Amino acid sequence: MTHVFHRNPKQQLAFAVRGQGIALFDQDNKSYIDASGGAAVSCLGHGHPVVIQAIKDQLDRIAYAHSSFFTTQAAEELADFLAERSPGDLNRIYFLSGGSEAVEAALKLARQYFVEIGQPTRRHFIARRQSYHGNTLGALAIGGNAWRREPFLPLLVPAHHVSPCYAYRDQLANETEEQYAERLAQELDQQIEALGAENVAAFVAETVVGATAGALAPVRTYLKRMREVCDRHGVLLILDEVMSGMGRTGHLFACAEDGVVPDIMTIAKGLGAGYQPIGAMVASDRIYDAVVAGSGFFQHGHTYMGHATACAAALAVQRVIEQEQLLSNVLQRGEQLRAELRSVLGDHPNVGDVRGRGLFVGVEFVQDKASKVTLNPAHKTHARLKKQAMENGLLMYPMGGTIDGVHGDHVLLAPPFICTPSDITEIVSRFARTVSQVLPA
Ligand code: PMP
Repeated sequence: MTHVFHRNPKQQLAFAVRGQGIALFDQDNKSYIDASGGAAVSCLGHGHPVVIQAIKDQLDRIAYAHSSFFTTQAAEELADFLAERSPGDLNRIYFLSGGSEAVEAALKLARQYFVEIGQPTRRHFIARRQSYHGNTLGALAIGGNAWRREPFLPLLVPAHHVSPCYAYRDQLANETEEQYAERLAQELDQQIEALGAENVAAFVAETVVGATAGALAPVRTYLKRMREVCDRHGVLLILDEVMSGMGRTGHLFACAEDGVVPDIMTIAKGLGAGYQPIGAMVASDRIYDAVVAGSGFFQHGHTYMGHATACAAALAVQRVIEQEQLLSNVLQRGEQLRAELRSVLGDHPNVGDVRGRGLFVGVEFVQDKASKVTLNPAHKTHARLKKQAMENGLLMYPMGGTIDGVHGDHVLLAPPFICTPSDITEIVSRFARTVSQVLPA
């Protein structure tokens, strides 16, 4: 019997005993290549000496001081680091303990902003189907992952859903990428008009979708079109970069690659790279200034926000990534990973799509390549792939289930930024072996 509540009682779990570089070891000293960094978290791999030393140094000075009494050097320096590198006027950083907390704070800030500027009817949120923004109630309300939401309906935050940008499935054969993006922008426009723009606070989207569709990047003009629609209606744009941010796509922030600056952005996962739990909400000066000019402060707060040790760890992680220029490795290894996956698995009858940006790579499995009909959900292929991969010494992040009527079996590969070319080849080899064992062609 286990007393750990968050452990699925049906699952046999090995003990993670130690980690080194891209490998994790269990109690039998079996090694696993961490090809998903957990869920796109461990971007520096495991046991990085510089990060460990920075954490030890911080602990020796002070582990934690409550943010209503003190700030710390670690929090101030990390905020400066992020503000200097974030796009546009995204200069105000609110440190939290993870992704859901960051999303929750973003929703509340959007709401408070409109109250402060005298538009209190703006309380509705528009997000997208096949999306994931976290498991707290607000984040769950805007998320478009039906099975996660269902037990908790009706959710408290008024949220509405439009189509995701899912070119593999939804771009029409006679449509260019630009026309597809325009069609999605029109859908958002119509949804805002249907609700009345004066009632809508924000449109929320993952810049590159992670947990529901395996590294699904939008077509290039999509975010720009959505930004335009938001601006036309005075609606805020919140981009959730909890998974796609902090270098995962080869750019520190994925939205920068598409030339779009949101009003609020959320980050987590790769920020602390798993060395400490940390996330952040990043807000524009415009929103920050309006709230300060209004009631004076954002009505929010958690005990562990701005945690000194978490900030010190994140600062060390981000400095290593920058000093070692790891983002250029992310771009190169990402290209290599997709190319090798396509070369080894491109002809497999059940591999429908290999996609992604940087080291954020998704593989979508189908029953039939031409029709793109999904695999039978009862077979739980994604779960079988995960189990078989572990037997083969490979960690990859599976996702599946019926999402608004569309079932999908997807796998996310998000290896650490320190991967070498031969690491990538080994990941592809173990992955291909796993696929051929679970789905013999
Ligand atoms: N937003 C996105 C885009 C995510 O991928 C996740 C986690 N998978 C979250 C929010 C929630 O983050 P956390 O699990 O740290 O609460």
